[in-house]
Amino acid sequence: MNLTQQLHETAKKMGNKPAYYFMDQSSTYAELDGAVTKFADGLSKLGVKKGDHVALVLGNSPHFVIGLHGALRLGATVIPINPIYTPDEIGYIVNNADVKAVVTLDLLVPLVEKMHKALPKVEHFIICETPQGQASELDSASLSVYPKMKSFTQLVASGDLGFQGPELEEDQTAVILYTSGTTGKPKGAMLTHKNLYSNAKDVSDYLHMSEDDRVITTLPMFHVFCLTVALNAPLMNGATILIDPKFSPKEIFRIAKKFEPTVFAGVPTMYNFLLQYQDGNPEDLQSLRLCISGGAAMPVALLQVFEKKFNVMVSEGYGLSEASPVTCFNPLDKPRKAGSIGQSILNVENKVVNELGEEVPVGEVGELIVRGPNVMMGYYKQPEETAATIHDGWLYTGDLARMDEEGYFYIVDRKKDLILVGGYNVYPREVEEVLYNHEDVVEVAVLGVPDPNLGEAVRSYVVSKNPKLTEDQLLIYCAEHLAKYKVPSSIEFLDELPKNTTGKILRRALKNQVIQTK
Ligand code: AMP
Repeated sequence: MNLTQQLHETAKKMGNKPAYYFMDQSSTYAELDGAVTKFADGLSKLGVKKGDHVALVLGNSPHFVIGLHGALRLGATVIPINPIYTPDEIGYIVNNADVKAVVTLDLLVPLVEKMHKALPKVEHFIICETPQGQASELDSASLSVYPKMKSFTQLVASGDLGFQGPELEEDQTAVILYTSGTTGKPKGAMLTHKNLYSNAKDVSDYLHMSEDDRVITTLPMFHVFCLTVALNAPLMNGATILIDPKFSPKEIFRIAKKFEPTVFAGVPTMYNFLLQYQDGNPEDLQSLRLCISGGAAMPVALLQVFEKKFNVMVSEGYGLSEASPVTCFNPLDKPRKAGSIGQSILNVENKVVNELGEEVPVGEVGELIVRGPNVMMGYYKQPEETAATIHDGWLYTGDLARMDEEGYFYIVDRKKDLILVGGYNVYPREVEEVLYNHEDVVEVAVLGVPDPNLGEAVRSYVVSKNPKLTEDQLLIYCAEHLAKYKVPSSIEFLDELPKNTTGKILRRALKNQVIQTK
């Protein structure tokens, strides 16, 4: 079984059920599956074949879902790309991934016009029409000017519902996800049909997803968290996804009131925004049976206040692109442990090891390593990077963690974010957790900055909701709760913290800011 075949099976069983709502318009499973088949046929008529690479430079939309499953049904490999990347960033990935066809929005046609000469390997730009993009102009002008440009709508319309895709092997690459590594250019994690199918299945079983669920799909679809947890897992179970193109608390409350969702999946900053939103009526979220947090550490204080205010359980999980992504989750049928990423999900093994790769005793900190059917084949065209990341089938995550006696894991921090203050280890997360407990603190990021005496010093950046809060007050607060060497040497107040499009706070961007302003 694979994702696109599963979609077809679901459509056969429950064709009349809404697969998604987008801008309040619904599409049934039968309609979605039909569009997927026709898009696959349209692509094949353009000469795209099994094994070819198709990039989706798209935000959350039905185009993304149809583009993804259509390309998979044809046996092509999909490369999802963040549409707000710069031309250079998109160009790098498209070239590096040997992309033959790019699917993107009419709004990005100016970008395509600028870039297409720099992308000689791309044979087709498939342009999705949007109400904002004035599709008619695109038809008459751009399509005739650039023979490489095709209309998404026309491609689907010209497709044949009788199209039969080729056999798909489970170890064939289905998706290549480019992850922005800490150094150098992004690397493409190759995820197979088996990787993606098994993880969506294992996660949905673990979280008891069913056809009765309505899932808010607001995380970006080009990111692996959304792709598996809020897109493919629900679709695999005949649930309905509520596609939100861009997260905002106002829109989430509106969607919730109208569609009574049962599941919300988000990164911690989204929970923070929902919590701080003054006009949000907690009753509007009462249909939720489960909130899923992942992608970054969920501060315990935030989790507890959110659960209390909205009367819903927040289950934190953990994953990374290279593992399709989920490896751990807090179980639903056992106690949820705040601050923990939970236990290994079905079929996936997690282990904490020392520098020699040996498992450390319970409670001790080491690197988290992962093994299972969800672990990627490797990085595209980067055998050395692959060899440095996977040993004997174990994926080295680069995250420091510990495990308790009941097999619950706790992420301590990124290995690379560890701060060394005069020889002592300071984990930024521990300091952040303390600051999040302060009633005036909305967001916080802690990082290490060079210090002439201690090697590194702890520096903290805080967004406060109280303009009268001072650095000294916060430093005294930290000193009450942290050992002396962990107390920040300085705290700076900012209006907001830099975040990526998934909503993760970017400690490293702050660090660069610090270095540049020196
Ligand atoms: P990505 O490949 O973009 O999904 O990023 C994966 C990284 O996000 C992991 O290696 C972790 O550093 C971080 N991450 C994901 N989930 C959590 C979590 N629950 N707690 C702490 N860090 C997390």
